[in-house]
Amino acid sequence: MADIEAKCIERDCGATFTITAGEQEFFTSKGYAYPKRCKACRQRRKAESGTRPVVAREPAPFIEEAPPVTENRRRQGRDRDQRRRRDYDN
Ligand SMILES: [Zn+2]
Repeated sequence: MADIEAKCIERDCGATFTITAGEQEFFTSKGYAYPKRCKACRQRRKAESGTRPVVAREPAPFIEEAPPVTENRRRQGRDRDQRRRRDYDN
């Protein structure tokens, strides 16, 4: 693995920084994306975020798990059959 030359995405910075092979390995093993900012910007943001109030993330909406389609279809078919049978009885 070779070192990567990355460009800082921070406005008014645009500095290039190196993501070393060791860092790439670290980020990959942790499942993180490679940093998009140079070290200076990262440290500055980290320092700033410490003073900012923590915004609670909105919880994801609860999604009711739909029953499997096959089971649903089977049940509907049975209902239809029972209804038809009742019609005959009457
Ligand atoms: Zn930067």
